[in-house]
Amino acid sequence: MSNPVIRCRIAPSPSGFLHIGTAKTALYNWLFARSQGGTFILRLEDTDADRTEEQYVEAMCEGIKWLGIDWDEGPQFGDEPAKGAFGPYRQSERRQLYRQEAARLLAEGKAYKCFCSKEELDVQRDLAAREKRPPRYSGKCRNLTQEEITAKGDAPYAIRFRVPEGETVVDDIIQGAVRFNNKEYDDFIIVKPNGDAVFHLAVVVDDGLMKISHVIRGDDHLTNAGRHVMLFNALGYPLPQFAHTPLVHDEQGKKFSKRLHGANILDWRADGYLPETMINYIALLGWTSEEEGREFFSLDDLKRLFTLKRLTKSPARFDRKKLDWLNGQHIRMLTPEQLFYRVLPIMQAHGLQVADRSREWLVSIVAICQEKIPTLNHIIPFTDFFFRQVTAYDEKGRQKYFQKPESLLWLQTALSALESTDAWCHDALKEAYEQAAAGTDIKIGMLVNTTRLALTGKTVGPGLYELTELLGRDEALARMKHALTFVESSGEFTT
Ligand code: GLU
Repeated sequence: MSNPVIRCRIAPSPSGFLHIGTAKTALYNWLFARSQGGTFILRLEDTDADRTEEQYVEAMCEGIKWLGIDWDEGPQFGDEPAKGAFGPYRQSERRQLYRQEAARLLAEGKAYKCFCSKEELDVQRDLAAREKRPPRYSGKCRNLTQEEITAKGDAPYAIRFRVPEGETVVDDIIQGAVRFNNKEYDDFIIVKPNGDAVFHLAVVVDDGLMKISHVIRGDDHLTNAGRHVMLFNALGYPLPQFAHTPLVHDEQGKKFSKRLHGANILDWRADGYLPETMINYIALLGWTSEEEGREFFSLDDLKRLFTLKRLTKSPARFDRKKLDWLNGQHIRMLTPEQLFYRVLPIMQAHGLQVADRSREWLVSIVAICQEKIPTLNHIIPFTDFFFRQVTAYDEKGRQKYFQKPESLLWLQTALSALESTDAWCHDALKEAYEQAAAGTDIKIGMLVNTTRLALTGKTVGPGLYELTELLGRDEALARMKHALTFVESSGEFTT
């Protein structure tokens, strides 16, 4: 059921890629909106022209889209036109609105013109630094008379917010009631001398005019929230509900640096992680389900179960092992067909000649890897031998299986077992190997491992009988004979 009152947003500044922390904020807002039948809005905070680049807008939107997060209202992106009745959705196109609202605050005496020059303010800031106190505005222009203001003529000015006396309370869903003594804030600038709104004014005007009901964002904005509450009140907008979520920490427990691989959400795509995994994993970086200990969630589960009251207060530490485990779980949840379509571009990019093969066969070789691959990218080492001749054998495998006194016996026994198999299928192959080992001293594992090395050049991969069936009789026998010749001619046996 749709709920017009619930309106959430993600408001990234497109000055870089989509950071894992921003992805988390986007996900929580989106899940909350979806779970309530509300609206999810994408707004680009692109007022800082020096740091905004169109390539970052694209990278950010691409990251959001890759995760499967869709927005109901937002700016034009790619082929998608802008949508929503509260636009524009780029701050750079909303300058007029900020000026209008700043003028209203000026007219009501809730803000004032500050004519102090940059040099003057620098001197005050340096003095504060030398005296080891936080920089504060002196309040010089706070009480200028109308005559004094008129006398300034065309002198450039900033607009400062007149911070009221008293206390400001941010009633936060996660942090509880956070109280700020207003003395902690000086009269902060809301419009710069060049006429541009600063972040605090822009974000509040946007949230107010876009009728945002819930502001869910990183707790690095908690102190800002005090300023924002004052501005909401001064502008006469209803207060949204705030939820400031802890930042994501890396495996060492430090803030997840932008420089780390994996800070960019699209690094995970490049590494073969599924968007379903990332959504599941990121959800757990600050939210817990009512079902204690449950970690695997599909997107539909999350949309149904997500609640703000289960958001956690302590920062989550990135846990690569858990992420890898979840990726395996999500890979197993796909149908073989779905998995095939996910890995096909990777196989093509690695030059595997998929075009020469039937789709049915391709789906089968992918299907036999499904239980084993930890990432989509592992499809390459797990299947490349189907497309290429084995030109080298894994070094450790060679020592273990090709350089033993029994190596020739193992290979010959396996070859005979293969040659004796008429029905070239998993079950018949399995039976042939079991029979070959029965009544001898040879362990079946040795036959299996030797054959795997001969057929694939490797010691790990999909199940042997499955891969042998799909490799085909002629190819398998040829590779076994090649391995036999190799072992006979190398003759470097060790005990
Ligand atoms: N552009 C801000 C950021 O990326 C958004 C702040 C907010 O959500 O209010 O941190």
